[in-house]
Amino acid sequence: EFRVEDAIQWFTKVNDKIQENKEYLTSLDQVIGDSDHGINMARGFQEVMSKLSAQEYEEVADVLKDVAMTLISKVGGASGPLFGTAFLKFSQAVKGINPVEYPSFTNGLEEALQGVMQRGKATLGEKTMIDVWSPVADAFQSADNFEENPFVEVAKRATENTKDIIATKGRAAYFKEKSIGHIDPGAASTYIIFEALAEVIK
Ligand code: ADP
Ligand code: MG
Ligand code: MG
Repeated sequence: EFRVEDAIQWFTKVNDKIQENKEYLTSLDQVIGDSDHGINMARGFQEVMSKLSAQEYEEVADVLKDVAMTLISKVGGASGPLFGTAFLKFSQAVKGINPVEYPSFTNGLEEALQGVMQRGKATLGEKTMIDVWSPVADAFQSADNFEENPFVEVAKRATENTKDIIATKGRAAYFKEKSIGHIDPGAASTYIIFEALAEVIK
């Protein structure tokens, strides 16, 4: 079961890890982008924390909605609207469900993935955050509880695997074959999001 306090703790940990990895994320974006991914994410999640700490929440969906709206409105780069859409779809999927039990959480992740794909007009294998969201959503479908779900290992491997892919979406697509051999920045941030989740629910 996933409760309001778990959701708050999740984004608190995401923010801590994003701030710690700000330089790293920016260094990934330096190679196949415009060197701002760490900056975008750090600003966005700092704003998320100000928003969440100024509010009392009754249900998980409301936390997710505030995270989403903050990322959409405060992050300039492509990643803001994309992560924002993910958490907005997740919020809509679990609206009225409190606490969010495993099957609903799984459904929320699936809706989040679909949202990113629609918003980014992208699919699996294009060297984007989708290459981590998608196998994680699959891992949730394949398991039946939080504890025995190997989603962090899945996310870790999927992030590494983005090295082998040629980018066909976003700024990295301009680098064509030269994008091979490098981890996608948004994939690395997505890994951080799920690493933080594992620390909350396991
Ligand atoms: P920008 O590219 O605008 O500078 P960021 O650097 O913050 O934005 O984010 C880049 C990340 O966004 C990429 O690493 C990739 O994971 C993700 N991304 C970019 N375009 C798309 C897309 N069309 N669909 C899905 N994800 C995308
Ligand atoms: Mg960038
Ligand atoms: Mg940018």
